[in-house]
Order: sequence, then C-alpha cells, then structure tokens
Amino acid sequence: MKLYGDEFRPKSFYRGLIGWGYGRASDCIACGQCEGVCPQHLPIIDLLKDAAEKLDT
Ligand code: SF4
Repeated sequence: MKLYGDEFRPKSFYRGLIGWGYGRASDCIACGQCEGVCPQHLPIIDLLKDAAEKLDT
C-alpha cells in the first residue's frame, strides 16, 4: 500500500496500531454488525479485506 508515494509509513503506522492493541484488518469475521450502523454507509467488510491484502502481508 502506498500513501502519497510512500510505502513505509502506512505499514509502519498500521504495525504501531497493532502494537497498541488494535486488531488486524484480517481479524474481521465479516459478521456485518458494523455496516448496518455505520452513518456513512461504508462497505467496511470489503474495505477491511482490501486493507488486509495490502497490510497484513
Ligand atoms: S464485520 Fe464489522 S463488526 Fe463484524 S468483525 Fe468485521 S469489522 Fe467487526
């Protein structure tokens, strides 16, 4: 994953969040509970799948 042409910082930030106890994108079990209540109607499951492919590798 590149953000503004930078590959290192997004992955470093992500690993930092995991170090703080946040779950990995790949931890999502696609239960769908969040999508029904998201006020922005985000496709959270698909977004997390995409993030997992790019960041959990
Ligand atoms: S679908 Fe939403 S609530 Fe369910 S595990 Fe994934 S992120 Fe969590």
